[in-house]
Amino acid sequence: MGSQISIERNQNPKPKPDQSHLGFGKYFTDHMFLMDYTKEEGWHEPRIVPYAPLMLDPSAMVFHYGQAVFEGLKAYKTKNDDILLFRPDKNMERLNISNERMNIPPIDEAFLIEAIKELVRVERDWIPVAEGTSLYIRPFIIATEPCLGVRAAEQYTFIIILSPVGAYYPEGIKPIKIHVENKYVRAVRGGTGFAKTSSNYASGLKAQIDAAEHGCSQVLWLDGIEKQYIEEVGSMNVFFKIAGEVVTPALNGSILNGVTRDSIIRLLEEWDVPVTERKISMEELYLAYTNGTLEEAFGTGTAAVISPIGELQWTDKRIVVNKGEIGVISKKLYDTITRIQSGQIEDTFGWTVD
Ligand code: PMP
Repeated sequence: MGSQISIERNQNPKPKPDQSHLGFGKYFTDHMFLMDYTKEEGWHEPRIVPYAPLMLDPSAMVFHYGQAVFEGLKAYKTKNDDILLFRPDKNMERLNISNERMNIPPIDEAFLIEAIKELVRVERDWIPVAEGTSLYIRPFIIATEPCLGVRAAEQYTFIIILSPVGAYYPEGIKPIKIHVENKYVRAVRGGTGFAKTSSNYASGLKAQIDAAEHGCSQVLWLDGIEKQYIEEVGSMNVFFKIAGEVVTPALNGSILNGVTRDSIIRLLEEWDVPVTERKISMEELYLAYTNGTLEEAFGTGTAAVISPIGELQWTDKRIVVNKGEIGVISKKLYDTITRIQSGQIEDTFGWTVD
C-alpha cells in the first residue's frame, strides 16, 4: 500500500532550527501527510505534500462539535544514521480506540505505520541528533464535512505533521511541583478519558492555570466521582514507589493507556521490581508520606518520558517526595527508555522499529 502514497516535493525548504533551542512543538518540517475519508470512497488519496495551512469550510464539523483525535510519538536517528520509531503499533492501535469512541471511521493500522515511515524518510534531515532531542510525530484526524447538524460527520481528513523537539520541560529532568486538583475533573467513567480527543485537553486548561497560580507546573487529576482516587498528572500517567513497590492507577475507562506507562510496567517486571496497577487514594499517598514510605513519584509520557514529582500540594498539605530530588528508579527508567529509543542500548523487547 506504501507505493500508493504520492509525493509532491516542497520547492522552498525552510532553514533548519538550532538544535540547542528547539523547545517543544514550535518548528514544523517541510512536508505533511494527508488522506481523506468519504462514505463513498472510504480512506483515500494518501499523499505527502508541502507543509502549508489547510483550507477548510467554516462550517467544517470539527470547529463546532469537536470531532478530533490525535496521537504523539517520536523518531530518533541513531549513531549509524538509522531512523528508529518507538512502538508505533501501540499508538496506531490507540488511534483506532479513540476513533471508535468518537465515531470516526477506523484506519488500517499497518498502512498508517507505512505512512509515518514514508513521511519521516522524506524528512530525515530534520531529525535532530543533539542529546535529548527527537522528531515528534503528530498524526491527527478532523471532521471536515461542512454541516451544522449535531451528528457524526461523513467526511474526515487524516494528517501527519512533524516537529523537531528538544527537552519537554525547560528545566530539564528536574522534579516538578504538582497541584492536586479538587474542583475540576479531567474525565469520568463513561466519558472520553481513555480516548486521545482534543476536548479532553481543552477542558483541562483552566485547572492548569489554577495550578500555575499556586506555583505548580502541573495538575494531579483525581477521579470524577469521589474525588479521592488518583488518575493522571497533567497529560501524563502517574507512578508512585511506596515501601519498595511501584504502583500506578489501574486503567478504568477515564485514564489514557499510555505507551510509556506500558513500557515502564514491562521494564519493572523485567527487573523484578514489584509493580501493581490498582486504585490509589490521596489518603493512602498522604499516609505513606507521613510514615516515610513514599519513596518516589513520577509522571510518564512520550513528550517528557519521565517527569519526577518533587512536591504535591493537596489542599493545605504539602507532600515532599525524596527531598525534591529525582529517585533511583525514576532515573534508571529514564536512562533505559531514552537509550532504547535512540538505539544506544540493545532493545530486547522489540519496541523500536526502523
Ligand atoms: N495521559 C494523557 C492524558 C496524555 O495525553 C498522554 C500523552 N499521550 C499520556 C497519558 C501518556 O501517554 P504516552 O505514554 O502514550 O505518551
